[in-house]
Order: sequence, then structure tokens, then C-alpha cells
Amino acid sequence: LLIAGCGGGKPVKVGIESNFRPFTYTENGENKGFEVDLWKAIAQKANLPYELVPMTQGELSKAVKSGQVDMAIAGMTVNKARKDNFAFSDPYFQTGLVLLTASDNEDIKSKDDLTGKVIGTKNGSTSYIYAGGIQGTKEVRGYPDISDAYTDLKNKKLDAVIFDERNVHHFLQNVGEGKVKMVGDVLNKESYAIVTKKQNKHLGRINGAIEALGKDGTYEALYVKWFGS
Ligand code: GLN
Repeated sequence: LLIAGCGGGKPVKVGIESNFRPFTYTENGENKGFEVDLWKAIAQKANLPYELVPMTQGELSKAVKSGQVDMAIAGMTVNKARKDNFAFSDPYFQTGLVLLTASDNEDIKSKDDLTGKVIGTKNGSTSYIYAGGIQGTKEVRGYPDISDAYTDLKNKKLDAVIFDERNVHHFLQNVGEGKVKMVGDVLNKESYAIVTKKQNKHLGRINGAIEALGKDGTYEALYVKWFGS
């Protein structure tokens, strides 16, 4: 049996996240998102059979480390600490962290206004580390699921949320409209890449596929599909 993206051999197990919209999420049992589409295109170009394994972000690094999955594509920001422990593909998305507060909040206009404030973000994320580095905050609360942080912000149980720009955008447009607002500049520039254990034998082919998808217009088409022009 020959199907697209299946070149024979043992399928690689690819960890994705169940709630990191619009990059990777599971809805009615279906895995969707920009990164799910991008991975499918990469696998087809690289001729890699695969199996998608959805989980939470907190579980993903552990699953890559333990070998439960061979790699993860889930908005994984490339940073020094992770590079010490893992390998990354070439980055495929440039973005950053942003600050969100209630629409009627008049005190918080930038990250310099967070003294004495309670900040929410996702456990194990680069935002959690970033927020922890801001001097004078009252508390940094880590949530396994970012949706719960957004809900607590809407209900005024948090003063602010710090998280990945595109996920915040998605939330603002779909659920948070009118109740929350983005303030200040992009806090930290970040780029996303596929994460694997060091010396993963597929990385070369994956990087080749990422480059080819950039050249043949596939990346652009997926970008427009998920983020608009
Ligand atoms: N980009 C952030 C990180 O790498 C968040 C990713 C995510 O929530 N999936 O930690």
C-alpha cells in the first residue's frame, strides 16, 4: 500500500500539542493547525511515514527526551537551555511574546508596569521563564492549559497574561474580543523549530523539506490559510 508521505520503514512519532491555536490543536478528535499542515507537507517532501501524537506542552519535552516520540512540532521556541538538551530543525516561524491585560485596565501599559501584579502564563513555556525574570511581580502563575489563564484574566483573577503573540491574537479575535487587550511592544523575539533528541537521523531531510516548501510556495499558501495575507 502506497500513500503520500509514506516511504516505508517505521513511522516517526511526531508530538503535537492539543491546544496551541492556530498552530496545533485537537478539535472533535481531529488534529489541525498551521504546524499540522506544515508537518504533513514536510513529511510528504521528505518521504517520511509518521504518526501524530497529541499531548500537552508540559508532556512534550519529556516525551522527546524519553523517546516516546521522535520529535515535536508545537511552537517550540529555540533557546539556549533547550539547545543544551535537544536538537532543533531550521526555524520555520518568527514571532515573539506579548502582554495582555483586561480592556479596562488603565495601570498596565507595558512590562514596566507589572510591579505587584499577578501574571498568568503556560507552565513550561518560554513565557513562564520570561515572566519569572521580571522584577517585582507579585506572582507568576503557570497553567497547564493556556485557555485557563485567558479565562482567569477575563474574570480578573489575573492582572496580565504573557504568551506567544499568534496564540494571543487568535484568542483576542475568537474568545476574548472586547474583554482583553494587547499592550506594549513585543517582549521577546522568538522562532519556532521542530525539536528532536540530539543527532536525530531525520533532521537533514526535514531541513531540506522546509527549504523546498519555502521555495515552491507551499509555506506561503499555508501561512495565508492560517494567518491571512
Ligand atoms: N513558544 C512557547 C515555548 O516554546 C510556547 C509553545 C507552546 O505553548 N506550545 O515554550
